[in-house]
This record gives sequence, structure tokens and C-alpha cells, in this order.
Amino acid sequence: MFYFDRGLFLRTPGLAVDVPRRQPQGFISHAHTDHVARHELALCTPETALLYQHRFGQRDVRTLPYGEPLQWGGVTLTTFPAGHCLGSAMLLAEERGRRLLYTGDFKLSASRTAGAAKPPRADILVIESTFGDPRYRFPKRAAVEATLVEIVRDALRAGAVPVVYAYALGKAQEVTRILTDAGIGVLQHKSVFAISRVYAECGVELGKHDVFHHQVPENHAVVLPPRAHQAASLPRRKIVSIAATGWAIDPRAARRWCTDHAVPLSDHADFDELVQAVRQVGAERVYCTHGPESFVECLCDLGLPAERLGKRVQMRLF
Ligand SMILES: [Zn+2]
Repeated sequence: MFYFDRGLFLRTPGLAVDVPRRQPQGFISHAHTDHVARHELALCTPETALLYQHRFGQRDVRTLPYGEPLQWGGVTLTTFPAGHCLGSAMLLAEERGRRLLYTGDFKLSASRTAGAAKPPRADILVIESTFGDPRYRFPKRAAVEATLVEIVRDALRAGAVPVVYAYALGKAQEVTRILTDAGIGVLQHKSVFAISRVYAECGVELGKHDVFHHQVPENHAVVLPPRAHQAASLPRRKIVSIAATGWAIDPRAARRWCTDHAVPLSDHADFDELVQAVRQVGAERVYCTHGPESFVECLCDLGLPAERLGKRVQMRLF
């Protein structure tokens, strides 16, 4: 028997999923801050375990490598790649032949630093739908990458320092790999660099990069987390700033991020990928979380059985 309550996915004896408050037993779909807490026992992929312990130090973890089923109080739990950041996973829970899939943050297509998500079929789907509005249709990834490289090259040609703002876990490593693949050296904020070392430990190479101090040699870009403006002492040369975010689809994104440019490089599924994922999983019931309420209507208009995952109502799924 499964229940959802305010984002908690529970089953006696209790497993909370992606709850950012300490739990006796918590599944962590990936290591972004809004999904983790210092649980008494954390369940996650081995890669997420490294990132989790990088942040919180040595803690009790039960690892669930992709595709390896684990018996958990009468339920079989299996993780599947979510294509979001290093170690990101979807969770499939099976009980008496019924299958529930929780996606967590995901992206169907591959990026330079994350493989494509592989959602399995399920009877019930709980889907994260951040960009569940038809205006969020991202251009092809190769085109977004080309735009980013072009802006950075233009800045370098003009004698400026290109500074890319990207989330420290996931996006910053992807930006780094895109730039180093284009022959541009990267200097990373120390918080980004520390996470990049975990990527390297897991075999994800990022090319020629180092930690940023004060000097920026020629043909180098700087990668900083958002809001690191004051923390990083940037050189006095002219700076061209770029935000790498899915929200760049919004015309005012650059102004909101206080940058010169914004490129729609996202590690989430866009509207079309969300719909594709729902079709692929083929569930008889679909619960949407974290996205616009209108996404539920969009799915219903397409004949897909969707409803909003209630925040306050406890809902029995079996
Ligand atoms: Zn995330």
C-alpha cells in the first residue's frame, strides 16, 4: 500500500521520498538541495551517495545502483537513470504486480555529462513537471550548446572574460564540458570544482578545467554558481556574463539573472518531453507535481489520465 502526503511517499514501515527534512529512512532521487536532508538512513544511487557525503560527510547510506532491485518491506525498489545530474534516478516501486514510478527531476534526452532517462512502464506515474507549459519547448541541445560557445568565443575575441552562471551541481559541469570540448579552458568556482572532482571520481571527464582564483588566462571562461557575484573576485577586465538555465525561454530571463545573455540549457524535460514521458510510461493514473496546474489540463486534453498530486490530502494509490 502506497500513500502520498505533501510530497512524501510513504509505506509502513515508512520510506520518504525526496523530503528535504530529516527522515528515519529517505530515498534521495538526486543530490540537489531541495531533495536532500541528513536522513538517519538514506537510499540513493552510488553516485548520489558520493555527492550526498561530499556535502554532509560520512553518513548511513544504502545504495541502489541503476537496474538492481532491492526488497524493502515487501516492496521491490529499482532505480532507473533520470538524465538530470550525476546519479539522478527515477524510483520504481513494485508490490503484488502493481508498479508505481516516481520520476524525480528528469530529462529524457542525453547531455554531455548525463545519459538519457530510461523510464520503465508503470501502472501509476508520479511525474515532476517543472516546465509543463507549452511555451517551454527548448531548442535542440546542439543548437543551445552552439549558442553558448558562440557567445563565449565572441567575448574572448573582444578581450572580455566570459562568465557563465550555472547551478553548481550538474549544469556547471555540463557547461564546463561543452566549453572544453570547444577548446576553451574553464576556471570553476571552488564549490563547482569540488563537485567536479566527484564527477571525475565517477568517470565523467570534463576536459581542461581548474579552480578559479583571481587570474583568468587567455582563452578561458569562468563558471560560477548563481549569486556568486560577490563571492568571486572577478578580474577588472570587461566581463560578459551568461546565465545557463531553462528559464532563459522567458524573454526577461537575462534581466532577472542580471546577466548580459541567457541560454536555455536545461537539465529538466521540456513540455514535449514531459508529454512523451507520460506516453512512454503508459500509466493508468498520472499525478503531476512541481509544475504549473495547467499541465494537468494539457494532459487531459490529450486523453491522458492526469491529476494534480494533492499537497495536503493524503492519497491512497493502491
Ligand atoms: Zn534537481
